[in-house]
Amino acid sequence: MQTSITSRYRQADVSTGSQVSPERQWQKELAAAVISVDDLLLRLGLSRKDFSDHLPEIRSFPLFVPENYVDRMISGEPEDPLLRQVLPISLELERTGTSFADPVGDLDARLVPGMLQKYHGRALMVIASQCAVHCRYCFRREYDYESEPKSFEKWGPAFEQLAADDSIEEVILSGGDPLMISDRRFGEFVSRIEKIEHIQRLRIHSRMPIVLPSRVTASLVQTLQDTRLSPIVVVHANHPNEIIGDCSAALRRFVQSGIPVLNQSVLLNGINDNVEALVELSRRLINLGVMPYYLHQLDRVHGGVHFEVEIEIGRQLIAEMQKQLPGYAVPKFVQEIAGEASKTLL
Ligand SMILES: *Cc1c(COP(=O)(O)O)cnc(C)c1O
Ligand code: SF4
Repeated sequence: MQTSITSRYRQADVSTGSQVSPERQWQKELAAAVISVDDLLLRLGLSRKDFSDHLPEIRSFPLFVPENYVDRMISGEPEDPLLRQVLPISLELERTGTSFADPVGDLDARLVPGMLQKYHGRALMVIASQCAVHCRYCFRREYDYESEPKSFEKWGPAFEQLAADDSIEEVILSGGDPLMISDRRFGEFVSRIEKIEHIQRLRIHSRMPIVLPSRVTASLVQTLQDTRLSPIVVVHANHPNEIIGDCSAALRRFVQSGIPVLNQSVLLNGINDNVEALVELSRRLINLGVMPYYLHQLDRVHGGVHFEVEIEIGRQLIAEMQKQLPGYAVPKFVQEIAGEASKTLL
């Protein structure tokens, strides 16, 4: 009985689905990402006339957004909260107020190529230089990825550093987006890390489950289930409109596989600086079993300062969320201050 059901599903897969492997599928979607502003506007039924801005091309950090994410934007809406996260505008080119290339002190925290440590017990590895989306507010938009290891052999010093310091219990894989590498290479990182006895936990900081849900492949989930390390996945969603359809399904896949999933957001002017959006985001997350973790005060990176919301407004929003949500659904409102021993609670 069991066998016949399984084989029936297999057959259904072959006849309805494509021949593309799950890995090829997300890579194909990535290769087809939208990189032209005019193409993006066309898909949304918008034109440049709908914007007061001239929408410049920004070569150093160009538009990059997968179709799957564009499909979640509202047609004909120039203020769409997802569109605003990815659309380059001319305010990015202004250098008003204080802003920095490295607002959170990443350079000072770099121990060896590819590895940062700021906090006790946790080391962060920058294992990919690219992302599946270019978020306009990104604090690493000016990070010097060129100087990080490119080939696997160059990771020697980072693994040696991890092995030499037995106070490090947790490795955080970050980037860029750490899931931009293939499942096979990702598996290689995991097996190198799990050989170091004092490492207990493996944390993945990725926005790909949100912007390119097909990245959550069965083999990725399997790798995280099979490792002796305790896995923790931290995703990055900012607005409830991101948490629909196959994005919800991708998050659910992690949760149903027994992998804890947390979400961090950035408080963003014009995107989620209102209580309705933040409450609904938390509701959608907890309904999937994803725990709201941090709401970050914006890091003042060059080109991102126009997204900043006053800290006092952030505090009021959190207080309002507390009135409407279960306690566990309210994220911690934090700021990263360079040189501090942890994120600073606001
Ligand atoms: C934010 C961050 C972490 C993680 O901090 P948690 O408070 O444990 O989430 C670790 N390392 C670096 C370099 C970071 O910036
Ligand atoms: S996915 Fe993360 S690291 Fe990449 S651009 Fe967006 S915020 Fe920055």
